[in-house]
Amino acid sequence: MFGVPSVNKKKQIYLDYNSTTPCAPEVVRGMLPYFTKEFGNPSSSHKEGKLASLGVLRARELIANAIGANSRSLVFTSGATESNNLALLGVPRRDTSRKKILVSAIEHKSVLAASRSLIGAGYSVEFIPVSNNGVINLDAASRLIDKSTLIVSVQAANNETGAIQPIKEIARLAHNKGALCHCDAAQMLGKQPVRVEDMNVDLASFSAHKVYGPKGIGVLFFANDNLKSSMRPLLWGGGQEDGIRSGTLNVPGIIGFGKACDLVSKDLSKQISHLSVIQDIFEKNVLRTIPEARINCSRTKRIPGTISLTIPGIPADMLMANTPELCVSNGSACNAGALEPSYVLLAMGVSRDDAEATIRISLGRVTTHQDVLMSCKILIRTIRELRLKLGV
Ligand code: PMP
Repeated sequence: MFGVPSVNKKKQIYLDYNSTTPCAPEVVRGMLPYFTKEFGNPSSSHKEGKLASLGVLRARELIANAIGANSRSLVFTSGATESNNLALLGVPRRDTSRKKILVSAIEHKSVLAASRSLIGAGYSVEFIPVSNNGVINLDAASRLIDKSTLIVSVQAANNETGAIQPIKEIARLAHNKGALCHCDAAQMLGKQPVRVEDMNVDLASFSAHKVYGPKGIGVLFFANDNLKSSMRPLLWGGGQEDGIRSGTLNVPGIIGFGKACDLVSKDLSKQISHLSVIQDIFEKNVLRTIPEARINCSRTKRIPGTISLTIPGIPADMLMANTPELCVSNGSACNAGALEPSYVLLAMGVSRDDAEATIRISLGRVTTHQDVLMSCKILIRTIRELRLKLGV
């Protein structure tokens, strides 16, 4: 049975936008008619069906436009988890000499678990190591990628540290050896320009709820029709999405994703500068008053707004329990609840103690300067109190 979570009633400052974002008002407004008035099934040939289908067509174009793709190259899924699973499990496996799957050590669990599930089918999974700056080691990648590699999967930006990964270079190394390249770009969209064609990847995953769209909708991008038509579906049925992903389309979700992508296309540079400014205020404030605090990957090119903050000696769980006004996360949200330090930080060489003393703060488009100043004040006060209590 599922436990009933207890909810804190105090006013909260939400600083967990990498985990999920609220739907933008424009997104909700755009979606509403598709629940009631334009409720048709886009596969139906009557008027209601055609209206829904038209909405889907427009949304597909908006999404494609935001990521620099052709709208025909997108397959709708339920989110980045499904896109990642489809990319890794559905990839054509005709060349039986290619039995190696390479993923970075800091991938999202949906990439790690999906690739591990292939071990039983005779595949091996190897991990591209990460340097202590949070970026994958390209020399190691180049040694690991060989003629037996089927696919290489590396994320565009890490959800915990924000570190941006060298995707173009990885794609080049993979292609040089005839392997495919997949990129989980869920955290990149809306925080940096994304042009899939330039990234040179074969497959890329995206999710609407990371960009002020609804939960439960995402896409998988395919670089070419050949790859798309030779994919093995995970879901079989009515043959929607060119047979690659059967199931009645989530029309309101798709419309919402389209609207969210339209916002990304229209105000990305404004968002980037807003996030960069408030991130800077946050980091300077904390580092000035807590000199032993550390921002992980601080010298690495990061997506703006992601702050992985280590306060040596103060366990993250304790810090979070004593700052109930702040919605932050320890490690990624998907790890929350499990008492294990972040595998991302461990892979970067952060000690177990320091990994356990790390919180992730992720800022968003509606985070204000006031929110940032208030959160810093709360954090700094609590850290000082806990230090006295713990004698550290
Ligand atoms: N990949 C990354 C990098 C993520 O941050 C997330 C969300 N935690 C996912 C995949 C999973 O996305 P979704 O919730 O859409 O399944």
